[in-house]
Amino acid sequence: MSVSEQRAAYRAFIDEHIVPVEHRLFSEDDEAAALLDELRARAKREGLWAPHLPPDAGGTGEGFLAYADLNEEIGRVTWAQYVFNCQAPDAGNGEILHQFGTPEQRERWLAPLVAGDARSFFSMTEPDVSGADPTNLQTTGTLDGGEWVINGRKWFSSGAEGALFGIVMAVTEPAADRHRRASQIIVPADAPGVTVEPVPVMGHRGRGWTTHCEVSYENVRVPKANLLGERGAGFLIAQKRLGPGRIHHVMRWLGQMQRAFELMCARALERKAFGSPLAEKQTVQNWIADSAAEIQACRLLTLDAAHKIDEGKDARVEISLLKFYAADALSRVIDRAVQVHGALGLTDRSPLAHMYSVARGAHIYDGPDEVHRMVVSRRILQAFAAGEAWRFS
Ligand SMILES: Cc1cc2nc3c(=O)[nH]c(=O)nc-3n(C[C@H](O)[C@H](O)[C@H](O)COP(=O)(O)OP(=O)(O)OC[C@H]3O[C@@H](n4cnc5c(N)ncnc54)[C@H](O)[C@@H]3O)c2cc1C
Repeated sequence: MSVSEQRAAYRAFIDEHIVPVEHRLFSEDDEAAALLDELRARAKREGLWAPHLPPDAGGTGEGFLAYADLNEEIGRVTWAQYVFNCQAPDAGNGEILHQFGTPEQRERWLAPLVAGDARSFFSMTEPDVSGADPTNLQTTGTLDGGEWVINGRKWFSSGAEGALFGIVMAVTEPAADRHRRASQIIVPADAPGVTVEPVPVMGHRGRGWTTHCEVSYENVRVPKANLLGERGAGFLIAQKRLGPGRIHHVMRWLGQMQRAFELMCARALERKAFGSPLAEKQTVQNWIADSAAEIQACRLLTLDAAHKIDEGKDARVEISLLKFYAADALSRVIDRAVQVHGALGLTDRSPLAHMYSVARGAHIYDGPDEVHRMVVSRRILQAFAAGEAWRFS
């Protein structure tokens, strides 16, 4: 299938099977869970499955750029990423297991993720130290004979409830440079000493995949072979995971923005006030024009960053710039769409209320806006300080 055929197939599946039941999924209850299981089974049968991973990892992906295109469709509905088995944080975990895992680790942990038989979580952020500056993290991993012993407390481990395992960032090299102190260790969720407690977060009622959890590790023992990559390479691997992961987020946000935009335009044309359609009010026209410009700017920035990643570049500035710019655009576009819908935009009769509440986190997760702005300006100023002008390659 060509990329455009794939995109059409995902769009058709979403429109035919997910959008009509979307309002039932908001409740995140037993009925919604059963519905999601049915949708996942159907998507898998139809080959619309794990498009973030290449075929040698068990997925159907054809590179980062192709996935960018596809993800704009998948992002239209919050639940679609889960239906097609490319949901955060499993997508990022799958990518690093594929890239850094040993054959045994891939067999044991990646294979069930790709098959859709299990979920995972990524456990880095801690309540007691700044998540924006995770080099200060306190959870420890100490070798004792043939086992890692893990102690510490994490929170915002997304999807931890009901997951098979987590990838945990722990300090294993306390004397090393701050970027070499931590390692990533695979921890089965049912290991003695692991406690998972969901923390309610705006936008989700919270169940299984949509939970954000506090996870405690108390003398948790796992085999030495559960180390992912090298000792002290935790941040290096995290960067490999979070860089593309941030673009995954923006790709999905584009789907959200595009959908909000379409709803805004449709409502502006059909709703009349003061003798004419809302579409004829200049303020609404400005919202539509500004939203169109911002969405297209985000789309082109995303494609540029995805193209550079496909070429093997680290695209650090491109990713950070895109992350804060797109989070702002996402908030603005959905907010305008809600406003054009009036009170209806605040109800469950429109998907906008849910989209609005989920969108707020975009300014915080995977690095707050301020930190990404700092990264961009630092890199640019470093280039100027070295006597060079900054240029995007
Ligand atoms: C929905 C959601 C899902 C998440 N999922 C995961 C997950 O699966 N796994 C995981 O490990 N973590 C996860 N997180 C945690 C997330 O990555 C952190 O919340 C984020 O990195 C910020 O850390 P913090 O909350 O500790 O904020 P802090 O570090 O306490 O920062 C608070 C605020 O300080 C300001 N600030 C920080 N640094 C600077 C600076 N240099 N300049 C100016 N202002 C600054 C920012 O405004 C920031 O919002 C998730 C968070 C959310 C909201």
